[in-house]
Amino acid sequence: MVESDADVALEDTDRIEGRSALVNNTNAALALAGAVRSTLGPRGSDKMLVDEHGEVIVTNDGVTVLETAKVEHPTANLLISTSSAQDRIARDGTTTSVLLTAELLRNSLELSRIGVHPTLIMNGYRLAAEESLAQLDEISREASEDELRATIGTTLAGKIDTNLADTMTTLALDAARALADEEGGDDLERVRVRRTQMSDGAAADSEVVHGLVIRKQRLDFATPASSGGGRIAIIDGGLETRELELDAQIEIRSTGVLAGFQERKREKLATQVESLSAQGIDLLCVRDGIADEAAPLLKAAGITAYRRFERDDLERLSVLTGARMVRHSNRITIEDIGTYTSRSEDKIENTWHLRIDGEGAAMTALLRGTTPAMREEVSRAFDDALGVAFRLVREPGILPGGGGTQTHLARHLRAFATTQKGREQLAIEGFADALEVIPRALAENAGLDPIDEILELSAAQAQSGAWIGLNVMSGEKTDMGEAGINDPLFVARQALTGATEAAISVLRIDDVLWAKVDASTPDWSNQIDDD
Ligand code: ADP
Ligand code: MG
Repeated sequence: MVESDADVALEDTDRIEGRSALVNNTNAALALAGAVRSTLGPRGSDKMLVDEHGEVIVTNDGVTVLETAKVEHPTANLLISTSSAQDRIARDGTTTSVLLTAELLRNSLELSRIGVHPTLIMNGYRLAAEESLAQLDEISREASEDELRATIGTTLAGKIDTNLADTMTTLALDAARALADEEGGDDLERVRVRRTQMSDGAAADSEVVHGLVIRKQRLDFATPASSGGGRIAIIDGGLETRELELDAQIEIRSTGVLAGFQERKREKLATQVESLSAQGIDLLCVRDGIADEAAPLLKAAGITAYRRFERDDLERLSVLTGARMVRHSNRITIEDIGTYTSRSEDKIENTWHLRIDGEGAAMTALLRGTTPAMREEVSRAFDDALGVAFRLVREPGILPGGGGTQTHLARHLRAFATTQKGREQLAIEGFADALEVIPRALAENAGLDPIDEILELSAAQAQSGAWIGLNVMSGEKTDMGEAGINDPLFVARQALTGATEAAISVLRIDDVLWAKVDASTPDWSNQIDDD
């Protein structure tokens, strides 16, 4: 037999084609989903993860489990990136999106077994996703103040202790409201809110300051430690004379030259300080260093100076005060000047902290805890709460939690399927079945019987509508709005689109080539036998 060029090129690969590729990919997805399924919901269990250095993390967060797992299968990696995207875009719903993706794949395998072509499955899934998104808008409603709090509480449920969740919800909502009308992308809440851990109190003493708090002391202790408001300049560079210092290496041999050099250096600094002083500046913050010789000049000009800031902090300071960052002090103009409302230095647990307040939307979260582990937990909780609060304040649509939304979508899609023609109907039903993995897993994790719960939930919804869900704390099927168990609309929407896209991109593959880079081609044990 003559080998074609293509066959020669594929000599070093293992090849899985057609339905075997789907079987293999689906197994990988199900294995991964199996690893996080038991963490879903407030009664989900924790996972203990041990990395190669023996470090231990205990978590009940799907994305943490997945990102820590060492996975080699390309489909499994696709699922992990779907859940990371969910985390980045919605800050919640990561477990949900992985469970949905795996379930969509499982059902597509069933469909392909009975002869439905992947193209038809993909079409049906797309139709079902579109219809579901429209339904989400249909059943969602705008959250009241209490419901905003309850919704953030629901997203934190199971992750952290209820009292802590309450404190963090209050702080997160305060910060989120301050950012509500600000321009900026997905991670604005990370950019604008500095997180500072402090050991001078318990978690409940944590606060959000509408200003910048940072470990730092002024350059010159002869200048005042605190002041009221005033004018501020921010330099994204230094107040130094670097060029002259370089020359000095060569010239410095005679004392006359040295004196002349120091004179020129002082003059250069004096011009720089003069241009600041000409703008009536009271406070100067500089990213790099400030030359020693500049200190008396600054003091004489009535300027208090701070040096060595992180760029992120200078950016926050810029937002806070309206000052524009300039590269060099002698290029400063009136438009670059900002205003602050107060400045102070305080000693907290033996370290001096600078605090600058202003009117712009930049903040510092002072996250307190008596032990480092506690402070880490408080920081994580705040991060989760703020991520959701920020998005929720911008888009306050909410949906029933406790599997209510997915149960409603499944019921709706089954009716919708009958209006469609051909085999896409089957795919839409497959999509509907996949959605029920959420109430099923919530019930399982609460020790309830999943089959009974889903039947009862569906019956209760037929009576009283889409807002009935399963409260896993009480086992009751009740109105989720009244029970305060709500999911944000943006979380559900992203989980649905992310999972559909991921499943479709796997369905599109009908040929998997494994490069024989090492002897151990990943071996995903046959959960499903394709016979
Ligand atoms: P994810 O990573 O997908 O956010 P979670 O473990 O946070 O997973 O679980 C979220 C799910 O738990 C949502 O479907 C939410 O509605 C549900 N949930 C939260 N609290 C309750 C509750 N008290 N009863 C029933 N379901 C709940
Ligand atoms: Mg969650």
